[in-house]
Amino acid sequence: MSREVEVYNAYFGDCIVLKDTSDNTNLLIDFGIHLQSDVSNIYGNRQRLTEDIANDLAGKYSSCNANLLITHFHEDHVSGLVYMYQSGDAKFSKLFNTVYIANIWNDPFAVASNILEEFVLINQLKSSSLPNAKASLLDVLNFVSSGASNVTLLSRGVEFENGKYIALWPPKDISSDDINYIINELGLSESFRKRILDFSEKICLYVRTVILKTDGGNAGEGNNTEIGISMEDLKSEYESLSQETMGIIDNRDRDEQINVQMNKLNKLNHKYNIVFQNVDSGDENVLFTGDAEKEQMEAISTADDYKLHSRYKFIKIPHHGTENHYFDFSPYNPEKIIITNGMVKYKNYSAYGICTDYGKIIAKHICTNSNNCHNCVGTCRISICNTYGGRELIFYRLSKVIR
Ligand SMILES: [Zn+2]
Ligand SMILES: [Zn+2]
Ligand SMILES: [Zn+2]
Repeated sequence: MSREVEVYNAYFGDCIVLKDTSDNTNLLIDFGIHLQSDVSNIYGNRQRLTEDIANDLAGKYSSCNANLLITHFHEDHVSGLVYMYQSGDAKFSKLFNTVYIANIWNDPFAVASNILEEFVLINQLKSSSLPNAKASLLDVLNFVSSGASNVTLLSRGVEFENGKYIALWPPKDISSDDINYIINELGLSESFRKRILDFSEKICLYVRTVILKTDGGNAGEGNNTEIGISMEDLKSEYESLSQETMGIIDNRDRDEQINVQMNKLNKLNHKYNIVFQNVDSGDENVLFTGDAEKEQMEAISTADDYKLHSRYKFIKIPHHGTENHYFDFSPYNPEKIIITNGMVKYKNYSAYGICTDYGKIIAKHICTNSNNCHNCVGTCRISICNTYGGRELIFYRLSKVIR
């Protein structure tokens, strides 16, 4: 058996195919490019890069020999999937056999956290000159309905891909009502809180009934007469709640406070991020972490029920290698680490860079791009990342297979 990864050049964004050459199975993990990724030097724009990757994936996996795992619903992990859905192109429909998502559909707090983060982001984009194209949770759900034949929910301890892999995060009942506090801090009212939670409850019901076809409802494409909720209803309610959020937050002159809450929402949504590894330990161990926060990695690494392996062939470093999410993987002896990073068009771009601690790790560095790496100065040749085990940069091409 041999595991390989095909890493796509998604800059600050994830798009990695985990390949098992023994049975020719492929698992795509996320497909998104950060809204503010600076892709101008090679691709001209993000849209073109998205199209190129989407077409490449469709060309390689059109015969339904790939499954998809979505770690979480942030733009930089799903924007390409939303593009696939919105393009309406038949080659993207049912491209994947099974799609794996986190088991959060009994938890309106989790859904509300996702939606509120989107609303605040839409609000921030509106008040700046930044582009406002934005992937919403509902768009992702539309993709899930159209882009895959089956949907499987993952939570800690659930094995998937014929028992090859096991989810290490999120735990099944992780419900967190931190969202209540954030709603309050943003100055949103009690009645707004109630409505966003009611709305989230409806999305949960829609997913369980229409997409997962559990809860005894009739299966339907996009709507379900049994529960009386259609995607169109959800979209229009989404719009009106989003407008309302804007109306309230817009009139407040406290950008700093909004940024603080935005960071909390971002962190909160990473609580529901899928982390997984292979089940049988050997020479081909893999650990995929999505955008796991430090707290989650600590919980995973100290838990007694499912243990991390003592060495790995591949570890996907969490959250694009940024300092805020740094976790020391050296006790797990990775042979190769994958870091999905690239320059972002933000004033505080430095905080989005690859932190110096990862430069110290003794492993081959596989980086989508090194132009915002605190270990790589000037040209790629002067690079700490290159010191131990060498380094592989993806950005000269669309993707590269690493063995
Ligand atoms: Zn994220
Ligand atoms: Zn991310
Ligand atoms: Zn570097």
